[in-house]
Amino acid sequence: MMIVMTPGASEAEIEAVRAKLETTGVHVAVMPGELTTAIGAIGDPEGVRQLSLEGMAGVDRVVPISRPYKLASSELSHHEPSVFDIGGRTVGGGSTFALIAGPCTVETREQTLGVARAVKAAGASMLRGGAFKPRTSPFAFSGLGVEGLKILAEAREETGLPVVTELLNGQHADAIAEYADVVQIGARNMQNYALLEVAGKLGKPVLLKRGLSSSLDELLMAADYILKEGTEEVMLCERGIRTFETATRFTLDLGAVPWLKLHTHLPVIVDPSHAAGDRRLVQPMSAAAAAVGADGIIVEVHEDPEAALCDGPQALWASDFPQYVADVSAHAKLLGRVLA
Ligand code: PEP
Ligand code: MN
Repeated sequence: MMIVMTPGASEAEIEAVRAKLETTGVHVAVMPGELTTAIGAIGDPEGVRQLSLEGMAGVDRVVPISRPYKLASSELSHHEPSVFDIGGRTVGGGSTFALIAGPCTVETREQTLGVARAVKAAGASMLRGGAFKPRTSPFAFSGLGVEGLKILAEAREETGLPVVTELLNGQHADAIAEYADVVQIGARNMQNYALLEVAGKLGKPVLLKRGLSSSLDELLMAADYILKEGTEEVMLCERGIRTFETATRFTLDLGAVPWLKLHTHLPVIVDPSHAAGDRRLVQPMSAAAAAVGADGIIVEVHEDPEAALCDGPQALWASDFPQYVADVSAHAKLLGRVLA
């Protein structure tokens, strides 16, 4: 941390800051400048943060030097990208591309098995589908619950595809742990810290979606909540954020992908479906995600999107999915990645 004093700070004020910093055991370096004095505090930034130095006489500002996330960071100890094996599929590490596909929501056994067979045949690596759905309106269809999880398990049984499904509420943790291969944390719950800790205790890989209005620092600190519980396999998901633009459902922040690659060792997955809100945009946004170095995509697919109970307008037709896979995998290949 760096403490910048005001130009008029007195020697006594500088001394008081130094003395207070020294109580935390950090190494203190006072650096007088032409106009202002800066005081460097080298050591545990959390202890320094807790001193609330901003309120002391003569202090202008306190500037953090190191980044606030620790376990998710690639700066501290984990320099190499993490690579996970999820049911035989490799995620992360730069040479593979994960294609997670399936319906927004498990509606019926027939609908889910139908989509699962179609995405498997086209080369998907995992099956997505929500059994517990976060809905903006409490009167909208909110999923089949445990019944939906059983249908997903049947689809896994038949296709061999690992299942990605959302943990919406800590009360469902046992059921999710029983049926899911990857535990999804939805965008609306990215900062539900108690739920993140529950997810981190399940011993399963977690797909953490970026909050609708969350910064990337906040996303990585949310990942720290899961990682600190012992789960090493956390995948981050850029799924679009709220901006002034209303033409698309959300604004897909593709700059997030290379930024995250610089600052974290965790794999990055892109969700073009929820960002676009319109299936016509899904293929180009997926190609772009592959081009900026995403480790994979999570995409919504339905055999009859017009009859879907949730997110139909953004779901790809299952009959179009083989062409979509060919196109996206060609873009991933340009970066040396193969579908896995
Ligand atoms: C989903 O993937 O099913 C979903 C609800 O997405 P998000 O949490 O990103 O809105
Ligand atoms: Mn959806």
